Amino acid sequence: MVSKDLPFSLEKIEKVIQTYPTPFHIYDEKAIRENAKDMLRAFSAVNGFKEFFAVKALPNPYILKILKEEGFGADCSSLAELLLAEEAGITGENIMFSSNDTPADEFIKAKELGAIINLDDISHIEVLEKAAGLPEILCFRYNPGPLKEGNALIGKPEEAKYGFTREQLFLGYSILKEKGVKRFGLHTMVASNELNPDYFVETARILFEVIVEISKKVGIDFEFVNLGGGIGIPYRPEQDRVPFDKIAGGIQKAYEEILSKNGLNPKVYLECGRVITGPYGYLVTTVRHLKSIYKDYVGTDACMANLMRPGMYGAYHHITVLGKENAPRNFKYDVTGSLCENNDKFAVDRMLPKVERGDILVIHDTGAHGYAMGFNYNGKLRSAELLMRSSGSIVQIRRAETIADYFATLDLKGLNHFK
Ligand SMILES: *Cc1c(COP(=O)(O)O)cnc(C)c1O
Repeated sequence: MVSKDLPFSLEKIEKVIQTYPTPFHIYDEKAIRENAKDMLRAFSAVNGFKEFFAVKALPNPYILKILKEEGFGADCSSLAELLLAEEAGITGENIMFSSNDTPADEFIKAKELGAIINLDDISHIEVLEKAAGLPEILCFRYNPGPLKEGNALIGKPEEAKYGFTREQLFLGYSILKEKGVKRFGLHTMVASNELNPDYFVETARILFEVIVEISKKVGIDFEFVNLGGGIGIPYRPEQDRVPFDKIAGGIQKAYEEILSKNGLNPKVYLECGRVITGPYGYLVTTVRHLKSIYKDYVGTDACMANLMRPGMYGAYHHITVLGKENAPRNFKYDVTGSLCENNDKFAVDRMLPKVERGDILVIHDTGAHGYAMGFNYNGKLRSAELLMRSSGSIVQIRRAETIADYFATLDLKGLNHFK
């Protein structure tokens, strides 16, 4: 029988629920720290390696503070994410600002923080210059277009809205050089949830080759190359995690063959989100109803507002019925939420042990792009986020929304005078 491990028992979660009712996301600090250390160890031979955690994956400043302690920076893509990084004490060039369709005030805040700004389009050079003045260091996002095979989630690069074309890179860096920018980076992000380590090595090769060419033709020195994020995680119990060593080893080999050979030595950065926290978060929910019509349904007290991936992408998230870890999975269910929206299912035709009302379900791998994608459709409220400290103690790092939060943006006094 395939299963996935849990860092807590039914007894422990029953105690937690006495203080913090379901649903909630709970994150495992110890596992997050160990994973961060493992990444840095694997990449230690790669020149100047640094990981900028993609804040959008788990936008909670407590998590950012843990990752900062482990030596990570933050990859931000909006004003709110810049402010979250600042709250966590991540500042200056420990912030990468990789936005797109960016409003001027966000460029201004990023510059004020001393963040490394990564421009998504050649026309943004002028926008940034007018809004905030050009900083000393700038990075461009490269879209390799038809050079590279697409990936199912992110689509083909030539269909993606992001980045500069190859020709625009040459022109863009020439403009920066002319305008007195002194330090340069190159970035790309072409994968999402990719489990094949060769994919990242191939991406590195493409970027390294472009760097050699631009360095020669434009006559600039690259300080860093940012290979983006997109390293996948084994959502299904039969899948294996991507070995960091394999990616790091392949990148190092490409680095020597392409960059070192040409006398270039930029630092290598990543900006992963999913692989950093994804496997170490869990959505805990209680079974509210069971119903049998043409199929058998398990109705939970969570919904798509708490975890959108299964409903939106048909993504697989493993489910454990707490306390029935070793029971045979011989009942077939759709596990649903309470939205008036038939996509609101955490699993379809899933084999589980016999489920009863009041059972506690753990939905695995919700530590990235889980809480973060939440919304309020159907008047549903976002849940609390809890952190299981390395010591085993539990702290609430975000409270659950209340009805008052839902109504906070409405002016009901105005409604009284409204006819
Ligand atoms: C989403 C995103 C990331 C992180 O992606 P993961 O799949 O979570 O690793 C990194 N960089 C950019 C620019 C992104 O849009």
